[in-house]
Amino acid sequence: MRDSLVNLMELQKVENELDALESLKGDLPHKVRELESELNRLKTEQENYENELNELKRAKAHWDTELKVLQDQLAKYQEQLYSVQSNREYDAITVEIDATKEKIDDAETRIVEFMEREDQIQNALEELTSKIDAGEEELEDKRTELDEKIKATENEYRKWEDKRKALVNNLNKPLLSQYRRIRRVKGHNAVVNVNKYACGGCYSAIPPQKVVEIRTMNQLIICESCGRILVYENESEAVTS
Ligand SMILES: [Zn+2]
Repeated sequence: MRDSLVNLMELQKVENELDALESLKGDLPHKVRELESELNRLKTEQENYENELNELKRAKAHWDTELKVLQDQLAKYQEQLYSVQSNREYDAITVEIDATKEKIDDAETRIVEFMEREDQIQNALEELTSKIDAGEEELEDKRTELDEKIKATENEYRKWEDKRKALVNNLNKPLLSQYRRIRRVKGHNAVVNVNKYACGGCYSAIPPQKVVEIRTMNQLIICESCGRILVYENESEAVTS
């Protein structure tokens, strides 16, 4: 148990070093992720507009053809008016002409509506494109900044990461997962020293008999107040980088 606890103390120091390096990146990783998802959202919106625009163009083309057919029809009816033989025939053609004119009105209204929507979409697309361009530029900047920070600490990071892996391989799983659990809740000091008969994490008093047990480090002892793992670390065991 003693070796495990010493390893665990060292693991904590190594992981704290890694976290400190991580924190040098500041909110950049978060910012990059945020920009990426915003850009994805904008691009989806752009795609939807483009699809709608294609639909509109198809529909408009259909109605353009339809309009042409109706106009030809109207012209034919109007020509027929000149050669009518009877009032009845005249009335019949007039009815057809009125009906065709109504259909033409309807087709023209639709075409105008399509054109108006097309304008709206074009404007929205223009706005989206400039937003996407600006977003991509900003993302590029932030990524470069982040890459530089990562590069600056890469060697140091790798050194600590190698140490971390070696330590983790040497620790038994239950102890490691207990450490992880405490660390998730308590942060950087899951394993704490006993300091003047008090827990180094929450400063609760620890009975002298317990302190003797902790000093031997023969068993896993948890602070009854805060749940942290208690150890006794002396100078010779202190970890140096
Ligand atoms: Zn405590």
